Amino acid sequence: MKDQRAKVCRNCKLFVEGDQCPQCSEKNFSHSWKGVAFINDPNGSEVAQHLQITKKGKYCLWVK
Ligand SMILES: [Zn+2]
Repeated sequence: MKDQRAKVCRNCKLFVEGDQCPQCSEKNFSHSWKGVAFINDPNGSEVAQHLQITKKGKYCLWVK
């Protein structure tokens, strides 16, 4: 099985499927990431505040 790892935006840590990050319009992606966080309530989530996430979505916790 090939490594079809998802890519994340280096700028905002969002998981991105297309060629451009829908959140910050960056095209700077990385396949080197660790951890997954589903943020549904950015204002009520300590993780979201720690990662400075302001919109809900699927994020990684660490990106190289
Ligand atoms: Zn982004």
